[in-house]
Amino acid sequence: MKITDVRLALLRVPLRTPFRTALRTVTQVEDVVVALHTDDGRTGYGSAPATALITGDTHGSVIEAIRRYIGPRLVGEDVADLNRIGRLVQTALVGNASAKAAVDIALHDLWSQLHDAPLYRMLGGGSPSITTDLTISVNDIDTMVADALDALARGFTSLKIKVGKEGATDIARVRAIHAAVGPRASLRLDANQGWTPKEAVRTLRTLEQAGIVLDLVEQPVKAHDLDGMRYVTGHVDTPVMADESVFGPRDAIDLIRMGAADIINIKLMKAGGITNALRVADIAAMHDVECMIGCMLESSIGVAAAVHVAIANADVITRIDLDGPSLCVFDPVRGGVMFDDAAITASDAPGLGIRHIDGLEPL
Ligand code: MG
Repeated sequence: MKITDVRLALLRVPLRTPFRTALRTVTQVEDVVVALHTDDGRTGYGSAPATALITGDTHGSVIEAIRRYIGPRLVGEDVADLNRIGRLVQTALVGNASAKAAVDIALHDLWSQLHDAPLYRMLGGGSPSITTDLTISVNDIDTMVADALDALARGFTSLKIKVGKEGATDIARVRAIHAAVGPRASLRLDANQGWTPKEAVRTLRTLEQAGIVLDLVEQPVKAHDLDGMRYVTGHVDTPVMADESVFGPRDAIDLIRMGAADIINIKLMKAGGITNALRVADIAAMHDVECMIGCMLESSIGVAAAVHVAIANADVITRIDLDGPSLCVFDPVRGGVMFDDAAITASDAPGLGIRHIDGLEPL
């Protein structure tokens, strides 16, 4: 199975409600979709959103990286040589984690199609059903409480509350949602780097003293401030999770050595694809550090790949935050992983199992 062509398209999917974090506001998913075609008529799919404020990757940079640097290395390569081709992708240029992730996902799709097995089985197997949380955007308190109750009505039992935008209001936000939700859902906080270390400790201590038990707090302080992350981790009972502080394997090693967090959030778009995401999971597992797997605001193509990774690594990936498709008005992808609000199920179709994607705009 040799790669004959690399094609790119844009996929736009509207969100149910605008997505607001401490860093940005987004109203629709816009993915660059990669389709790798082969000499036996197969297609492998991958995708990448533009997350300029997180990874530095824009649509323009993703397209340029794949068209000019990564794509030309792939044509004529045999999909059976996954590891060697994967290295060609990673070494085609520095940075550009999202572009590399999109292509790496498409390669894994083809590689598991070659072996006629769903990707999760090629990655080690597992139970094909997982449960995700849902993100509650940062907003005025009434809107956040209403969104939380709506999520409960949809069957979610774990909510990830975005905070960190206005420090003083965060305690009131979490108290109100906790009071409305009660024991019906566990709560996670994501500050998206929005607090100072002392502000994070003060805020979390206040919530802890009010009897609010949180599953975790995600990226309380600036990504580069590992000392600050360690300070927060050492001064609160709530488990601290690194998101923007850990992109790939090297970051994971540095963070774990410093004891700068309790949990690591793995994302394919940060790691540069599946291979490096698995390395982060392995490093974490060797140090008895648990992981969450998360996604960007992205379509179900890239998220499906993360689902397969999660299924095959359930021993170390103990938390699932793959709510991108649940935040969208509809799912344009036919076949493969079923996203039914909190319940996510991978099918037995080979690879990612994608049969068709509605509304692709060729680039
Ligand atoms: Mg996060």
